[in-house]
Amino acid sequence: MKVVKFGGSSLASGSQIEKVFQIVLADSARKVVVVSAPGKRYSDDIKVTDLLISLAEKQLQGEEDKEGFDAVLERYQSIANELHLSNEIILRIKKDLMDLLEGNKDNPERYIDALKASGEDNNAKLIAAYFQAQGVKAEYVNPKDAGLFVSDEPGKAQVLAESYEKLFELREREGIVIFPGFFGYTLEGDVLTFSRSGSDITGSILANGIKADLYENFTDVDAVYSVNPNIVDSPKEISELTYREMRELSYAGFSVFHDEALIPAFRAGIPVNIKNTNNPTAPGTRVVNYRENSNGPVIGIASDKGFCSIYISKYLMNREIGFGRKLLQILEEYGLSYEHIPSGIDDITLILRQNQMDTKLEGQIITRITEELKADEVKVEHNLSLIMIVGEGMRHNVGTTAKATKALAEAGVNIEMINQGSSEVSMMFGIKEVDETRAVQALYHEFFVPVTV
Ligand code: ASP
Repeated sequence: MKVVKFGGSSLASGSQIEKVFQIVLADSARKVVVVSAPGKRYSDDIKVTDLLISLAEKQLQGEEDKEGFDAVLERYQSIANELHLSNEIILRIKKDLMDLLEGNKDNPERYIDALKASGEDNNAKLIAAYFQAQGVKAEYVNPKDAGLFVSDEPGKAQVLAESYEKLFELREREGIVIFPGFFGYTLEGDVLTFSRSGSDITGSILANGIKADLYENFTDVDAVYSVNPNIVDSPKEISELTYREMRELSYAGFSVFHDEALIPAFRAGIPVNIKNTNNPTAPGTRVVNYRENSNGPVIGIASDKGFCSIYISKYLMNREIGFGRKLLQILEEYGLSYEHIPSGIDDITLILRQNQMDTKLEGQIITRITEELKADEVKVEHNLSLIMIVGEGMRHNVGTTAKATKALAEAGVNIEMINQGSSEVSMMFGIKEVDETRAVQALYHEFFVPVTV
């Protein structure tokens, strides 16, 4: 049995859904189909999820957004027209949207989540109706009925472990199960979503739940590339990588697969195959537990912007018991999460996502660290990019750091910090955002472009 997930661009129009239909029917093992909300049809198009978020936000501000409502409905309407579906499904979607808009606004985050989730929920209903209209036995299954329960964290919910046992029962359903991605229910019965692009997570949870043999994740590229194709022209495709490698690359900027989506499949030992809806015969990229290490130490290079660092220096920090705890306590009190903590004898650097802090908060944190921890120096640096070089073979390969730093030096990129050693499969460089493109190109060249003599 396989779980198959289709992303928003694979479901953005009627013609895309026809391709999905063909793909699902081409393999009788494709039992559970997880769907996203309709995504972009062309580059300036707006995803249904984004339309829904803006609709919900306006509604919360007391604005009647007829245009926004029509824009959402129009997306489903045009898909239904293309697929020659009866108007019944559109009336059903319209009623659902109207009910949601009238819903309880006391808790804005929950209100937004309920509207956001309707993007996938209504798409799943529409797709199930299409499969049925083609004479195929298929049914829409609601996450609550299936038992997909999540933690009470709006916009970033996590699956509750008790879900898995009940989800196993999906195997017993007759025909194809069409399941909306991106959300689950709290034990109190509220709809909450995973973080953005979270339909990948639903697919992985269901693959674990039904103990699938394979989790196929259909998107709009032939494979995961070894580097962002917007930075390097026609980069090398990755045919196979491990869960750990994929997790590091997704975390550090590869948007093809959600970084939180690996864990459920990994725990159940289910391989993931990332494939292209527009070219389904291409083998795609397989994510597995173990791979033969045949192509050098590095499998991929990822980069992401939007970080800042808080550098703290204090003489004899290494001997001060409790310094780290007190420092992290301050972050915790402000609800801030950190990404990395490189440290030295007398200094420590906290790396955070910049969008968590504004100037005021930053000032407060600097003052508290300076006064409460009696630091000699506290310095914040903005607009940093993190570059992650990833590969299982790296640890056993002498000279990877030397090669990387040499390539960066030759490209004139100043390394602000290096974090190597905490993770077994990656090495991180912090650099200025303005240097990101140059740095990634130089590293790609160093590790992937064969030297010609
Ligand atoms: N539609 C949601 C988003 O745009 C979830 C997903 O597509 O996976 O974030």
